[in-house]
Order: sequence, then C-alpha cells, then structure tokens
Amino acid sequence: MILFKTIKDIENQINKLKKEGVSIGFVPTMGALHLGHISLIKEAKKTCQQVVCSIFVNPTQFNDKADFEKYPITIDRDIELLVEAGCDMLFLPSVKEMYPDGLTNKTPVDFGFLAQTLEGEFRPGHFDGMAQVVERLLRIVKPHKLYMGRKDYQQQLIVKELIRKRRLHIELVPCNTVREKDGLAMSSRNVRLDKKARTASVTISKTLTEVKKRIKAGADIAQTRQWAYAQLTAGKGFNTEYFEIRNAETLKPVVKKQEPKVALVATKIGGVRLIDNMLL
Ligand code: AMP
Repeated sequence: MILFKTIKDIENQINKLKKEGVSIGFVPTMGALHLGHISLIKEAKKTCQQVVCSIFVNPTQFNDKADFEKYPITIDRDIELLVEAGCDMLFLPSVKEMYPDGLTNKTPVDFGFLAQTLEGEFRPGHFDGMAQVVERLLRIVKPHKLYMGRKDYQQQLIVKELIRKRRLHIELVPCNTVREKDGLAMSSRNVRLDKKARTASVTISKTLTEVKKRIKAGADIAQTRQWAYAQLTAGKGFNTEYFEIRNAETLKPVVKKQEPKVALVATKIGGVRLIDNMLL
C-alpha cells in the first residue's frame, strides 16, 4: 500500500492510473477502522483495480467539540488492517492540506429537507461540513466508484445527491451495516462505551429488528414508533434523540403502506452518541 500525505502526490498517481485506464474505488473514512470499514474495502476490491482509502477526521463536521476531541485515533492499527485487506493507496492528509484557507463550514449545495431532518436537526452544520470535505476528496481521488456504508444512512443519501447536483459522474455503492455478534452496529465510537453502556447498547439493534418484524406483519407505523421509543428510555440509560420510520429514499414521513421504508435511530448512552438504522 502506498501512503500519500499531500494532494499533489496522490493526484499525480491518480492521473497516471487514469491515463492507463485503471478503475478506481474509493472508501473515505475518519479512521479508527473496524470490520465495517474493511467490508467496504473488500467490496471495492471485487470490482475495482485500485482501491483508495482516506483517513481524515474532518473538524468541520463535528458540531460537538468534545466529540471531536475524543474521536479515537489508531493510525498504526488502521494501516495494518488496510494492508491486510489489500488496500492499494491510503490518503492521510493534514487539516492544513484539506483546509489551506482555514476552517470553513460551507457547501455550495442546498440539500433541502434531506439534510434538515433527523441528523440535520440534532447535529446542525454536520452535513455541510461532511459534504464539503467529501466533495474535496472526490475531486482529488476522482474514483469511478465510491463505497459508503448504510450505517450512516442519511449521509449516503446526501452524498448521492451531492454527486448528482455537482455532476461528479461517480457511482455510489451503498454497503450493508456490519454488526457485532450481538447485533450492535460496528462504530469507531463503540470503544468509548463502558461495560454497562455496552451491555445496554444491544437494545438498539434488538428494537430495530423487532420494528422490522412488526411493520412487515402490518403494524401501525405511529404505534410501532411509540413502542420503539419506550424501549430506549432514560430508565434504561438512553437519551434518545429520535426514532423514526421514514421513506427510504426521501426520508419524508411515510404516507402510503407500499413505500420503501427505513427505521432510523440516534440515542446517547453513557455519554456516547450512537446511530443505527434498518431497511424495513
Ligand atoms: P466513518 O469512519 O465513521 O466516517 O465511516 C466511514 C465509512 O464507513 C462510511 O461510509 C460509513 O458508513 C462506513 N461504516 C461505518 N461503520 C460501518 C459498519 N458498521 N458497517 C458498514 N459500513 C460502516
């Protein structure tokens, strides 16, 4: 695996590969890699001749300063995992490299409702910071295919819209969420869960699974949502920000029974904010 720290160096290599007609797959991450990230690398390896991973903890997408400061950094282990998975190139830029003119939190794209609801409501500015850095990365790496996890369901819908609106001509490949044996969605933040919080956290995926079962059996959406909320209460150690059942493409409230649906949840447990979702 070749490690690049500057835009100039990785662009030279990418331009050379593109001239040779090599297909490029890209997996952007914030590091502290786990098997969820590695599954994206493996998926990219199936169809792309060269796979690029980036690790960049993007300051402008953290609306909570403490969350940014506590974000785990495990770069040596990350490099080991990427080499093992057969990743070809790693882009590891500094903040200065990505933001030469200082930190700004602006994207020229208006995503409308898609970025205002759910995460947009509870993490103001998060998607602007994310979209801004993802567009920069996409213009540097110029991949044919971009691999993103459904774990961050709203994020991959917004990036799909970013690609369309900015005419980037990149295929976004959404990949399924990788879970721990007990169902907890893998996340870099899971290492911050203490024993009690880790034990309780299994309720999140259990609730989503039960919601899926109930909705498939024809249960009422409002009642099911209410039931789900009751599973993730303060009494059980949760501070739940939202649990919603929405249209899987627009994230708007469901009006017709036949619409494609997704259940999405954000909850804090033991001071750690976790998100998860399930297609219904
Ligand atoms: P992050 O490092 O958290 O920004 O995530 C980088 C990419 O990995 C995003 O596309 C995430 O959706 C994806 N990802 C994170 N966790 C998982 C998981 N458990 N399963 C699959 N993909 C994941």
